[in-house]
Amino acid sequence: MGINFRIRDFSYPFSILRLKRIFDKNQWLSKEALDDFRLSRLKQVISQAYENVPYYRKIMMERDITPDDISTLGDLKNIPFLTKTLLRTNFASLLAHNAKSYKPVMLSTSGTGGRKISFYVDKPSNILEFVYYWRLWGWAGYRLGDPCAELCAEYFTFFKKKTTALHHFHYPSRRLLINSLYISRRYLDDFIGIFRRFKPLFLKGLPSNMYMLALLLNERPGHGISFKGIFSQGENLMPHQRELIESVFSSKVYDSYGHMERTVAISNCPAGSYHIHMDYGMVELEDPEIPMVNQGGGEPDVKEIVGTSLYNLSMPLIRYRTGDLVKLAPCEEKCSCRRVFPKIVAIIGRDTDVIITPDGRAVTAIYTVFDRMPGIVMGQIIQDRRDRLVVKIVNEFGKLNRVDEILKGHLRSFVGTGMDIKIEHTTADGIKGDSPGKFKVVVSLIPREDILDS
Ligand SMILES: [Zn+2]
Repeated sequence: MGINFRIRDFSYPFSILRLKRIFDKNQWLSKEALDDFRLSRLKQVISQAYENVPYYRKIMMERDITPDDISTLGDLKNIPFLTKTLLRTNFASLLAHNAKSYKPVMLSTSGTGGRKISFYVDKPSNILEFVYYWRLWGWAGYRLGDPCAELCAEYFTFFKKKTTALHHFHYPSRRLLINSLYISRRYLDDFIGIFRRFKPLFLKGLPSNMYMLALLLNERPGHGISFKGIFSQGENLMPHQRELIESVFSSKVYDSYGHMERTVAISNCPAGSYHIHMDYGMVELEDPEIPMVNQGGGEPDVKEIVGTSLYNLSMPLIRYRTGDLVKLAPCEEKCSCRRVFPKIVAIIGRDTDVIITPDGRAVTAIYTVFDRMPGIVMGQIIQDRRDRLVVKIVNEFGKLNRVDEILKGHLRSFVGTGMDIKIEHTTADGIKGDSPGKFKVVVSLIPREDILDS
């Protein structure tokens, strides 16, 4: 995701510019005016679903609902949730009869531990994606054409001849691609040289890659590499990662969160809050299907995001249970940036990346154990069985006797004594492996369906 300057994005520049103008205005609208905008988009999606999508035609007729019955945003609740299992089992009937006219492309995603799902995105949702990131980057002062750097591996692993290259500069888009698979002490001087030569103003990447680069550069005071804005996406950004990245590069980090199905977008604003971009997708916050453990006193304030496409007309997903969990503030106050979009406190991640204890409790913030142990520079918690955690750590101080014991103690304060905990000391490569894909601090290998069935 992100502003990737693909040729196909430029094949409809007027649509992009038109939506960008609307998006720039939307953020400053009153709540009522923004709701009017959302309702007009929603009505278009519901009409399309009723007229052309067999799955929705059937369930709306069964409930005696027509598009005219959706006259307020709240009326959406009359349509039942679409779970990932329903998406998988009704895939063909969720595709619109007239999908072709929206230039659909099929995408697949396999959530860690979850089962693979496929869906279509189309031209209107590609325009949306581009405009969303353009607006977000604009919050950091980005103007189209500004030089930016991106830590990535996909480009280098895709083109076989480039596998060992440290960087590639794409002149038309002024985008410097940095091969994240080589971020290490050995190549640090080369990377410093590359950054100094191309002078990118912005940096984009996965939090774990940016954190690794920041850790290495932190040992080189006076490295002189700084940015106007940093954009993290694709993984959960941990508080200690944000702190180090911001300090090493003298720049604010704008973290953003979304998914390939494109029903929800959440990002940091210049004031540092997380906002739900309400004009991107229709978002409802519902109680999670898996009950959450009360971790901070008071009522648990963790909600699951339920998203509805506002742009994808080839396969509109309506009231789609994303499995993405967010933490809400006890009382909502307006952000000092004055944008209309509602705030959340934190993104927790997917419910597949929540640890479920043998006695059926869901534990969400277990990764904070690493913050209590300064010697651990990187860690990953994997639940491979209902009663076992495998915890991989990179320990700066080497394998000291008491590290395992203290860490186990912290972990037990979350999961109790019924869980077997196995600690493995490894290197950063040992944790990330050769995979250029996402890194997750908490990984559950137990399929979500199995958790819900048990
Ligand atoms: Zn704000």
